[in-house]
Amino acid sequence: MTPVQRAAEVPTTIGVEMIGIPEGSELDLDLMLTFVDEGILVTGAVTGQARVECARCLGEFHTDVTVNLTEMYAIEGKAAANAEEDEVRLLDGDLLDLEPALIDAFGLEFPLSPTCTDYGHAECINPDTPAPDGVSGDTEGRIDPRWADLVEKFGTPGTSGTPGTSGTPGAAGGDGAPGTDEGRA
Ligand SMILES: [Zn+2]
Repeated sequence: MTPVQRAAEVPTTIGVEMIGIPEGSELDLDLMLTFVDEGILVTGAVTGQARVECARCLGEFHTDVTVNLTEMYAIEGKAAANAEEDEVRLLDGDLLDLEPALIDAFGLEFPLSPTCTDYGHAECINPDTPAPDGVSGDTEGRIDPRWADLVEKFGTPGTSGTPGTSGTPGAAGGDGAPGTDEGRA
């Protein structure tokens, strides 16, 4: 077993808009690599500092987040022996790419709507913003899907045959009208 204890820089932001570990910040890796026939088993903990935006008060704060990893990295060609394991990752040559595993692990760890109280604050850190009663939906200006078909059918007025928009109907009938371009040609 080979212990790996080092810091690594986050290559791209891990997480979502409301909570994530920003690109360029440091991760603390405290891992153990176990070499087995099929590849390398990676176990241990990874800690990073996440930027959190509270879903309730929009206050911003940072918090340490730790995930535990148990990831098997198989040597290509030997993975077939473990076919029952869908989640087996492959070693890319000698390179062990932790990034996809970390994105998955932190993705599971992060709540969809983080709040101050989720992370040890007694109450929201931003007292200026009154807490809304419900979740506000950002639906204004969107077309109700039930109407979308109608908009498609009637939303664009016909470019021809619309009476009343140009000239008086009847006075300029196409049939046999003298003096049209067609007649001159
Ligand atoms: Zn809050």
